[in-house]
Amino acid sequence: MLRLVTKQILSQTSKRTFQFQNKAPSLCFNQQRIISSRRTIFTNPNMSEEYDLVVIGGGSGGSAMARRSAEYGAKVCVIEQGATRDANGMRTGAGVGGTCVNVGCVPKKLMFMAAQQRESMVGPVSVAKGYGFDVPESAGKFDWEGVKAKRDAYVTMLNGMYLKNWGKAGIETHTGIASFEDANTVKVTSPEGVKTLKAKKVLIACGGKPSTLPIPGAEHTISSDGFFDLEHQPKKCAVIGAGYIAVEMAGILHGVGTETHLYFRGETVMRRGFDPFIVKSLMHSLEHHGPHLHKNSTPEKIEKHEDGTMTLTTADGKSESGFDCILVATGRTPVTDLLNLEKAGVKTDKGGRIEVDAYENTNVENVFAIGDATTTGYELTPVAIAAGRRLGDRLYNNEPRARIDYKTIATVVFSHPVIGMIGLSEPQAIEEFGAENIVVKEAKFSSMIYAFNDADNKVETCFKVVLQGKDEVVVGLHCIGPLSDELMQGFAIAVRMGATRADFEASVAIHPTIGEEFVTFGGWGQKKTAEGTKIPLLPPYITKTEPSKAEIEAQIAVLQLKLSKM
Ligand SMILES: Cc1cc2nc3c(=O)[nH]c(=O)nc-3n(C[C@H](O)[C@H](O)[C@H](O)COP(=O)(O)OP(=O)(O)OC[C@H]3O[C@@H](n4cnc5c(N)ncnc54)[C@H](O)[C@@H]3O)c2cc1C
Repeated sequence: MLRLVTKQILSQTSKRTFQFQNKAPSLCFNQQRIISSRRTIFTNPNMSEEYDLVVIGGGSGGSAMARRSAEYGAKVCVIEQGATRDANGMRTGAGVGGTCVNVGCVPKKLMFMAAQQRESMVGPVSVAKGYGFDVPESAGKFDWEGVKAKRDAYVTMLNGMYLKNWGKAGIETHTGIASFEDANTVKVTSPEGVKTLKAKKVLIACGGKPSTLPIPGAEHTISSDGFFDLEHQPKKCAVIGAGYIAVEMAGILHGVGTETHLYFRGETVMRRGFDPFIVKSLMHSLEHHGPHLHKNSTPEKIEKHEDGTMTLTTADGKSESGFDCILVATGRTPVTDLLNLEKAGVKTDKGGRIEVDAYENTNVENVFAIGDATTTGYELTPVAIAAGRRLGDRLYNNEPRARIDYKTIATVVFSHPVIGMIGLSEPQAIEEFGAENIVVKEAKFSSMIYAFNDADNKVETCFKVVLQGKDEVVVGLHCIGPLSDELMQGFAIAVRMGATRADFEASVAIHPTIGEEFVTFGGWGQKKTAEGTKIPLLPPYITKTEPSKAEIEAQIAVLQLKLSKM
């Protein structure tokens, strides 16, 4: 793909003089190309090129920063290793567009939606029959191969869009593995050779990779990356892990009809960062309609048999056989080990994550880092993108204040059912503000989607708001249930703006929807006093008093004074 595009390249040495003859990007392997009109001239491959900004990693964060900086006139290149694989065929590089596009959010969401379609037709929580559809037995048969082909084509289309957008922005692309020679010199190693780039500034946006499981037989397992390579649907699959990726993968496999077993160490999955009320509801749904759960299980060994199936044995001595796939999703590690960070003097924490401050500065001047490979604590595409864009604004558009706010970032887990959350869980809020300053409101119900299902075959929906202080500011908002993913974005804006419970309850409900429950919490605009009496909770349009005439006149006087001094 890259080579094909290379042939059409028209680019030149300076961004400021770009005259694009077509929209394809400039791809530099081990030759430097200086191009005039439609002729490509190759120059000395050993000659180093100089950029305002060298970006390591063409994923969510790197691409965002590169494009924003190029837009402001910086001479930028992206180094992306591409969708490389090791000797065993395991993917080592995500490829153009990074994890999200190739082995993360995008292909995952497509598979999640496939699972959702099937779940609506067949299985314990299906609704199609209830709504009067004659669902044939064959409705649950899933065309894995067909969907994989379409999914791969969709990803390829996105790869092309990334390249096209980089080209349009005048960004050059170098394919190979980047590593530091010093803080201003980056080496690109590819099968074609080694190339040296000079950089006024360097951005590290190299992302992460799946962790491996140090047990005998681990070589027979796959990771979430490998999941997207599976040519055929597994018949019986074990998913190992308790984090969101394990939960999502197990939900997808179960949803498309694979016999799925989820192994995790504690009593519940997703024990870190999620509100216990939501986790309890997730466990309820998993236990009633989800994959087979193996709680308190620590995998000890995996044996592969002659017929290709595997047996998984856990530390408590229990074994389960017949797996044709075992997927390990026990966390991710940053891929900073390839970068020779010590040559640039860039500091990492013990886990290899690059230490950054609130402005994405590393400890080395003119070396910056964003995204999954940093210590910011968020591994989400929009976070990496926002951080990249803000950094571009700061470095190349004279906006020293520009930075991402790592507080109140909303997130969704595509579990079955979906989880949405923003802000603090109840335990986190208590830790931050003290128990006496926190009030929570919780609701549990089954949405109207399941109106015609038996009680046992309904999916639970749970909502929770965490309120702080006498103004009852919403510092946490959590939901689990159908459509929680789509619900969350609008509420995220309100929470960021400092909405209070009174603001929520002053918003008249949209009926009948699931989301209306968030604005009809508690007493629909009523509040209980300490004595237990109910009193009206006056909405902000009543309590926020208009400024008096004298106040308005005073404000005008101040403005006039300022104007007279200009
Ligand atoms: C299964 C899965 C599902 C996910 N689902 C979601 C989701 O639903 N929503 C969400 O917001 N996030 C999701 N994420 C997380 C999201 O994909 C990441 O947070 C995001 O991609 C991080 O962006 P980044 O720029 O830091 O790194 P990446 O996007 O990983 O990009 C890094 C790039 O750098 C390249 N690279 C690495 N080292 C080098 C080197 N030395 N030289 C050259 N190139 C190099 C890699 O090949 C890669 O392309 C998911 C992740 C996974 C694994």
